[in-house]
Amino acid sequence: GTESTMLKRNPKFSTLNDDDIRYFKELLGEKNVVQDEDALAAVNTDWMHKYRGSSKLMLQPRNANEVSLILKYCNSRCLAVVPQGGNTGLVGGSVPVFDEVIVSLGAMNNIISFDKVSGILVCEAGCILESLVNFLDQQGFIMPLDLGAKGSCQIGGNVSTNAGGLRLLLYGSLHGNVLGLETVLATGDVLDMLGTLRKDNTGYDLKHLFIGSEGSLGIVTKVSILTPPKLPSVNVAFLACHDYSSCQKLLFEAKLKLGEILSAFEFLDEQAMDLALNHLEGVRNPLPPSLHNFYVLIETTGSHETYDKEKLEAFLVYSMELGLISDGVVAQDLQQASSVWRIREGIPEALMKAGAVYKYDLSIPVEKMYDLVDEMRNRLGSSARVVGYGHLGDGNLHLNISCPQYDDKVFTQIEPFVYEWTSKNRGSISAEHGVGLMKAEKIFYSKSPGAVQLMASIKNLLDPNGILNPYKVLPRSS
Ligand code: FAD
Repeated sequence: GTESTMLKRNPKFSTLNDDDIRYFKELLGEKNVVQDEDALAAVNTDWMHKYRGSSKLMLQPRNANEVSLILKYCNSRCLAVVPQGGNTGLVGGSVPVFDEVIVSLGAMNNIISFDKVSGILVCEAGCILESLVNFLDQQGFIMPLDLGAKGSCQIGGNVSTNAGGLRLLLYGSLHGNVLGLETVLATGDVLDMLGTLRKDNTGYDLKHLFIGSEGSLGIVTKVSILTPPKLPSVNVAFLACHDYSSCQKLLFEAKLKLGEILSAFEFLDEQAMDLALNHLEGVRNPLPPSLHNFYVLIETTGSHETYDKEKLEAFLVYSMELGLISDGVVAQDLQQASSVWRIREGIPEALMKAGAVYKYDLSIPVEKMYDLVDEMRNRLGSSARVVGYGHLGDGNLHLNISCPQYDDKVFTQIEPFVYEWTSKNRGSISAEHGVGLMKAEKIFYSKSPGAVQLMASIKNLLDPNGILNPYKVLPRSS
C-alpha cells in the first residue's frame, strides 16, 4: 500500500528468537503457536489485499490470563504486537506492518451470560457478530449493531473500531450500548471494567477509552453489551430518487413521518448499483429498468405490524406526491427484504472484485455530502470510477474510487484533496472505520494538535514501550 512504503521498522523492537517461541509453546501449547507459512500469509494480509505484513508468528490465546502472560512477556522483551479479530478492518489496522506478533482472539468465543430481563449480554471478545445475532435470535433479542462483515468480524473488533454500521440510526453507537469491558494492558495487567449497569457515574468512565482505540491501548477480552428485544414488525422499502437533493429531503421527511420506527436509511448511487449488478451473483435491481441516479433503502422496525405498514405506505405515497421518489418497492417477505439488503451490503465486495479500490469513510454534513463525489468525478475524469454510497441517515459517506490497479497518478489526484475538502467542510476523515495505518498521518485533518497530544500521552501512560499496534492511529511525530 502507498502508506506503508514510507515507513521504516522501529529498531527499538526486538526480533523473535528461539527462546521466545519456546516460551509461547509452553504457555499456549504447540497448536496455538502458529508458524505455518500459508496460515501466516492469510493473517498478514488485510481484507482488501491492500496491506501486507511479514509476521512470523500468530498466537491464539484461550483466555484473558493467557493474553495477560503473552503481553507481559512481549512487553519485557519489547516485541511489538498486533491484536487481530476477524480481520475485516478497512484501514490496515488489523495486520502487521512489519514483523509484529499477531495475537488472534478467535479462540475466545464463549458466551458468558445473557439476562433476558435486562437484555444484557456478556461474552468473550472473539465471538463472531453473526453468531451473537443467531444466539440472541433464539432468546428474542437482536444485536444493536449490524454490518456487512457480520459473518467474520468479532465483537472485540467491533468495539475496538467503534463500528457503526446499518442500525446506528436507531440504536446509537457502541459508546452507548457497551456497558462494560475487560481489557488487558500492554503490561499484562487485566483491567476489570466489566460492568452490567445502565447507569454508573463513579468517576472517569475508562471503558470509553478502549472503544475505538483500535488495539493501541489494550486487548479487549470481554464485552458486556445492552441488546434490544427483537420487534415483530420489520419493513424494508427500496426507492429510486432522481437527484441527491431528493435523497436528502427524503431523509428529513422520513425522520419526521416515520419517527421512532425508522431503523435504517442507506443510499447508493447509480455507479454503486452498477457494480453490485455486475459483480455479485444473484443480485438484481428490484425496480423496473429506467435511468435512476440514486437509490435509498429504508427500513422500519416496530412493535405493531399493521400500524407500521400503514405508516410506511402513507409515507411513500406522500413522498411520491412531493416528487421526492420516482419509483419504489416494499419487500413483501423476508426473502425480498434480504435480497434488497444484499445490494447495499454487497457493495464493498463488488468493489473488491472490480479491481483496486481507494476507500474513504467520511462524516460530512448531509447537505454537502454528494458535492464531494461530483467534484472527485470531475477531477478524475475517465481514469477511475467514483462511487458514492453509505449511511446517509448518519451523515456518513463511503466514497470509493475504483481502478483496474493501484495507480500513483490517480492517488495523487485523490489525496490530499479528499482530506482537505472534508476538513474544510468540518467533516471527519474517519466516520466509522477508524484511523489504522491508512490515516495515522492524516489525523490532524480532523483533530486539533492539543487533542492528538493528549491521545499520545494516554498511549504512553498505558503502553510505555509502545508495543501495542505500533505505526497505527497516532502520527509518527507524536
Ligand atoms: P479486525 O479487522 O481484526 O481489527 C480491526 C482493529 O481492531 C485493528 O486495529 C485491530 O488491531 C483491533 N482489534 C481487533 N480485535 C481486537 C481486540 N479484541 N482487542 C483490541 N483490539 C482489537 N465498519 C463499520 O463501522 N460499519 C460498516 O457498515 C462496515 N461494513 C463493512 C462491510 C464489509 C464487507 C467489510 C469487509 C468491512 C466493513 N466494516 C464496517 C469494517 C469492519 O468490518 C469493522 O471495522 C469491524 O468492526 C472490524 O472487526 P474485526 O473483528 O474484523 O476487527
